[in-house]
Amino acid sequence: MLNNNKVCVIGSGVSGLCSAIELADKGMDVHVFEKNKEIGGRARKFSSDGFTFDMGPSWYWMPDVFENFFKRFQKNLYDYVNLVKLNPGFQIIYDNETIQIPEKFEELVLLFEEIEEGAGNKLRSFMKEAETKYIISMKDLVFNPSLSIKEFIRADVIKAAFKLHLFSSFKAHVNKYFKHPKLLSIMEFPILFLGAQPKDTPALYSLMNYSGLKQGTFYPMGGFSKVIDAFYSLAIEKGVTFHLDTAVTNLHLIGNNISYIETSKGKFDVDKVLSSADYQHTEQSLLPLEKRTYSEKYWKSRTFAPSSLIFYLGINKKIQNLEHHNLFFDEDIQKHAAEIYQDPKWPTKPLFYVCCPSKTDESTAPASMENIFILMPIATDLIDTEEIRDKYFKIILNRIQKYVGEDISQAIVFKRSYCVADFKSDYNAYKGNAYGLANTLKQTAFLKPKIKSKKVDNLYYTGQLTVPGPGVPPSIISGQLVANQLIKDIKEHEAVI
Ligand SMILES: Cc1cc2nc3c(=O)[nH]c(=O)nc-3n(C[C@H](O)[C@H](O)[C@H](O)COP(=O)(O)OP(=O)(O)OC[C@H]3O[C@@H](n4cnc5c(N)ncnc54)[C@H](O)[C@@H]3O)c2cc1C
Repeated sequence: MLNNNKVCVIGSGVSGLCSAIELADKGMDVHVFEKNKEIGGRARKFSSDGFTFDMGPSWYWMPDVFENFFKRFQKNLYDYVNLVKLNPGFQIIYDNETIQIPEKFEELVLLFEEIEEGAGNKLRSFMKEAETKYIISMKDLVFNPSLSIKEFIRADVIKAAFKLHLFSSFKAHVNKYFKHPKLLSIMEFPILFLGAQPKDTPALYSLMNYSGLKQGTFYPMGGFSKVIDAFYSLAIEKGVTFHLDTAVTNLHLIGNNISYIETSKGKFDVDKVLSSADYQHTEQSLLPLEKRTYSEKYWKSRTFAPSSLIFYLGINKKIQNLEHHNLFFDEDIQKHAAEIYQDPKWPTKPLFYVCCPSKTDESTAPASMENIFILMPIATDLIDTEEIRDKYFKIILNRIQKYVGEDISQAIVFKRSYCVADFKSDYNAYKGNAYGLANTLKQTAFLKPKIKSKKVDNLYYTGQLTVPGPGVPPSIISGQLVANQLIKDIKEHEAVI
């Protein structure tokens, strides 16, 4: 009986919340343990001096994934979240011009044609194929538990795998369509969300282009945290119990089963454990050596998505020339990428991203002020000191000031920085990664760490270090598919006895 099962979910990030909702909906007694005082994990918010900052995600893509999750429970997401579409979706700032990505796809086609003759029609056919990949993937592929390669040795999947370009590189794919460096950078940008370089990412992920450039860029009024609030309300409605400010410190085993968990506030008996905390942390810090599926050597050999240096700023005036999303691609992208992946070091001439949600949403800043979030991707595990953070703050601020053509430094009324050390201490993030394990050619689907432990019978994993990968929509799907696997296993076990 499902309702005889007490499940401990470690972590209240997107994947933990979604798996908890799914399990509680089936009648299970679900308890979420979160080490931090707030829910949401990397998608938390904080407020200070009248400003409200989303700490992590700001790009809302794949709106159907959010909608469909709520539909599963006969709920309408839009009863919880007021979603608006941004126009322009975003802007890219190059050294000699700025390109705005329009909300309407046909306007983007015209823009491509202006930059490169024939590129408009090529964009249409690229997008048609990307849409097919999106539809097939969202219907079937991403909901595969990826426990074994055998799941993929089906005629229809093998046929689809070639059609979907699972085994070829995104860079080679996009180069077949476009030549102009600016068009290449527009097309390659969505891939950066997956944590690896376009040359190492399967061409399957042109589905990201479909989402970002055709479906469009959305914003939940009040901030991304409104989505977390929506998940939380649904979880409470389904009867999930939350234990905040409570870190899980040990998984106590009898034989091959966890019998209870130790937490910072005491012991707790469990039937099943589903960890949404970083996979490496759960294995290496909460389990004895002989019960770990993967070794430290394994984790060291993985390609992690980058870490980030982030600044949250409150500015006591309005800033001209910034849009909601601004990508500063005014330096050499290849060099910065090499300094993240090939030769990890603090970047020589960084690219960075500036989000200004107060352009869309007045609730994020006091009247006539601006809320600014700056993110500079960096290699994981770099030495992170106040001096280094300050050095990059000055570099970034100078570049923003040069672009907007006005002084900002004297208008800063709030400033907080966040980097490698914070990712480690707040989320137990391996090497201080910001968004999990990259979706590379060698780390996709069944090549990812598995959602079920091979050595502990009642332990499951979800989140951005397992399938399908990094990002809020994949974390929603991950929570859903792991919860379903757990339920399926219980039912199969009951059928046997
Ligand atoms: C700076 C940044 C920007 C991003 N931008 C975007 C974006 O624009 N769009 C997008 O779609 N995605 C974005 N992402 C990615 C997205 O936020 C993540 O993929 C997603 O939120 C991860 O959810 P998760 O459940 O896998 O993990 P997490 O959110 O990390 O949740 C895991 C939780 O486990 C808790 N935990 C860890 N150890 C323990 C323990 N021992 N006991 C109890 N609790 C524990 C942690 O505190 C955390 O709350 C961004 C991420 C970051 C960091």
